[in-house]
Amino acid sequence: MPVTSAIYNAHTDKVNSILADIEQQFTLDENDLISITRHFHQLFNLGLGEYNQPMAMIPTFVTGVPDGTETGTFLSLDLGGTNLRVCHVQFHGNQTFTLKQKKYQVSEALKTGEATVLFDYLADSVDAFLTSTEAEAEAEVPQQGALRQNPFDEDPPAVPLGLTFSFPVEQTAIDEGYLLTWTKGFAAKNAVGKDIVKLLQDAFGRKHLHVKCVALVNDTVGAALSRAYTSGGCVLGAIFGTGTNGAYLEQVANITKLGNNAPATAGGVMMVNTEWGAFDNARVVLPSTPFDNKVDRESINPRFQAYEKFISGMYLGEITRNILLALVDAAPKPILFGGKATAHLNKHYGLDTEMLSLVESAWGGDADAASDADDVKLRNFSAPLEEGALAPVTLQRLKRTQEVVQKHLGYEPGEVSLRDAALVRWIGALVVRRAARLSACAVATVAIQMGFVTGVGKEVRPAEAAAAPGKSYSIGIDGSLYQHYPGFEERMREALRVLLSEEVEKKVEMGLAKDGSGVGGEPFVL
Ligand code: BGC
Ligand code: MG
Repeated sequence: MPVTSAIYNAHTDKVNSILADIEQQFTLDENDLISITRHFHQLFNLGLGEYNQPMAMIPTFVTGVPDGTETGTFLSLDLGGTNLRVCHVQFHGNQTFTLKQKKYQVSEALKTGEATVLFDYLADSVDAFLTSTEAEAEAEVPQQGALRQNPFDEDPPAVPLGLTFSFPVEQTAIDEGYLLTWTKGFAAKNAVGKDIVKLLQDAFGRKHLHVKCVALVNDTVGAALSRAYTSGGCVLGAIFGTGTNGAYLEQVANITKLGNNAPATAGGVMMVNTEWGAFDNARVVLPSTPFDNKVDRESINPRFQAYEKFISGMYLGEITRNILLALVDAAPKPILFGGKATAHLNKHYGLDTEMLSLVESAWGGDADAASDADDVKLRNFSAPLEEGALAPVTLQRLKRTQEVVQKHLGYEPGEVSLRDAALVRWIGALVVRRAARLSACAVATVAIQMGFVTGVGKEVRPAEAAAAPGKSYSIGIDGSLYQHYPGFEERMREALRVLLSEEVEKKVEMGLAKDGSGVGGEPFVL
């Protein structure tokens, strides 16, 4: 054998083994899914029984969900992971609502500076919103004229506002709750341990705004309530966006840590905000790879929000970036981009998760997958992809993908080969598929906890409740990943079929919780 081809073969084997190794690290089989779900269920019960558990299982004091007949007009403020929104919502009472909203940016400086400055900004945004919509909304927002507090006024009723606050808050009442920790890159000083409603109310006071925060809800609760309002029922609100979390309807009797503080509620139920983003912070079952460890180590909150770091939009781009860089730097020869990294690729958080959605959309999702013959060529990672060898439809998809990769990673035309494009798509899909399968573990855990099934995997038995009328497992979901990544739900369902059986998976209703964070924070439910 000539020396050059021996070297070539060695390289080929090396490339394939590096990539096979990555694939293996990111693959979760049936047993993995089952043991993760079992552990999840244990930690659920730990959190329901004791305070100060990593997975906080927070009682929300929301003791029912709407059914779509509610009416009223309200203001809400939504501080999520990416946006700040002020909304004005009108509920028509026939499962529909009208929403007016304005989005405001939250700068890095605000996220990490003094909390009072952040809350002043929230109050300013409400003020700006009310001022700008004053003319249009005059008829709709009551007490508009009394907005600015007049010291000579007797006691004008304040404008009620619901706050959707997408961070872990230990609630003590519907309008009181103490920040446990920041997540998703927020680190504003002097907020942890404080009552969030008071921080906001004080800011309104400093601005002489006559607005009263009457309800504090997590965005997952908002998602559940908004979904219930528009579809007539919902037992789990879940977010797969910048962060991840879920809130579900629990029997008050099961929230044993409430002890004597358990409120007597009509239906005996209360929404519990699981804060599942912190599932397995101890990393007993989570499938950490070196790429994940790097994300965690370099994050603002190492060792916290472990599960969230495998799943949510804040981190998936960063995991992918780490893998791409490893391939750019692979020895003895680069596997990707001819060994060149761009400024985007070199920058911490420089690869936005949005790119993964765009790449997958350009590729066309799995729906119209390449022919078997093309699949073989696409999967032979060590060989270049020849244009002429591919079916025209595959080539078209690949070229679209190539363009997105080039543009979003800041390469010059010609610097991203078809092989590079195929690889980036493949890696993104591996990372997101793992995220979706892990997400399914949380959804399955709620199904078990709520008694829709007993057991998991091959032992699963649909419980009576699953068949009973009106007891469907209905989930309201919000978040960019769920909304924009093609096939995210289907990938979740694939894993749900393994965990809950095909029969039960079919009964799981998932739907978008439209504007959940804007709508669900409304006091109309109280
Ligand atoms: C927060 C949750 C929130 C979730 C989704 C997480 O980082 O801890 O409170 O619901 O993000 O926004
Ligand atoms: Mg949000």
